[in-house]
Amino acid sequence: MLTPEKKEMLYEGKAKQVYATQDPSTVIVYFKDDATAFNGKKKSQIHGKGIINNTLSSLLYPYLEEKGVKTHFLRQLSDREMLVYAVDIIPLEVIVRNVAAGSMARNMGIEEGKIMKKPIVEYSFKKDELGDPMVSEDHIIALEWATEEQVSSIRAAALKVNQVLVELMEKAGLTLVDFKLEFGLKEAEVLLADEISPDTCRLWDIKTGEVMDKDRFRKDLGQVAEHYQEVLDRVKKALNA
Ligand code: UDP
Repeated sequence: MLTPEKKEMLYEGKAKQVYATQDPSTVIVYFKDDATAFNGKKKSQIHGKGIINNTLSSLLYPYLEEKGVKTHFLRQLSDREMLVYAVDIIPLEVIVRNVAAGSMARNMGIEEGKIMKKPIVEYSFKKDELGDPMVSEDHIIALEWATEEQVSSIRAAALKVNQVLVELMEKAGLTLVDFKLEFGLKEAEVLLADEISPDTCRLWDIKTGEVMDKDRFRKDLGQVAEHYQEVLDRVKKALNA
């Protein structure tokens, strides 16, 4: 396989940068240590986070592929870089919830920790200026962000990711409370894109309920990188078990 050359930066987000390669069908994703919360109002760095999130995502995407989920992932290139297919990102945050927490608990006046009778898939329009408003499948189709078929692929993939990860995280001694996914289109095909990490998932210790994810940063609970590392170590072990 051709060694990818890192060319110009195409995009910089809050936690990652995307670089062109000599092959227009692939890009390099670089994971930074920058952390933001509350729509960018809280900013800091979590030392080593980029390495942990890249390593964890680089383990989870091939595992999900094995289970039949189509992703943008090609391979891990270095501790902070992965090679992925270039996709057109659909401007949605696709959130799956198993347990009430965060904005759902807040908006609906439900206690954090309430277990959902079935997983919930919800969508937010990815637009910081508007505070990522929640949208329905009808909005997505009517506004032509994705076709009806693509929306059903997204929903099916999100639920499949949930099923696979709930089981894996349980083996790792973690409750998968909720998570956010992003999808992209490659020649009209829906591929799971972005990352899966403690930045994008809520993970609680299955026995003690200890928070092991980005809420440690959001809520100033301390030892953020240590808990991210613990998640990575436990998932590695569960994958090898
Ligand atoms: N999430 C994310 N990026 C966002 C918003 C949410 O990765 O911009 C994740 C978040 O970490 C959690 C899930 O999506 O695992 C649900 O988040 P929620 O809607 O409860 O929002 P929050 O409480 O983060 O405002």
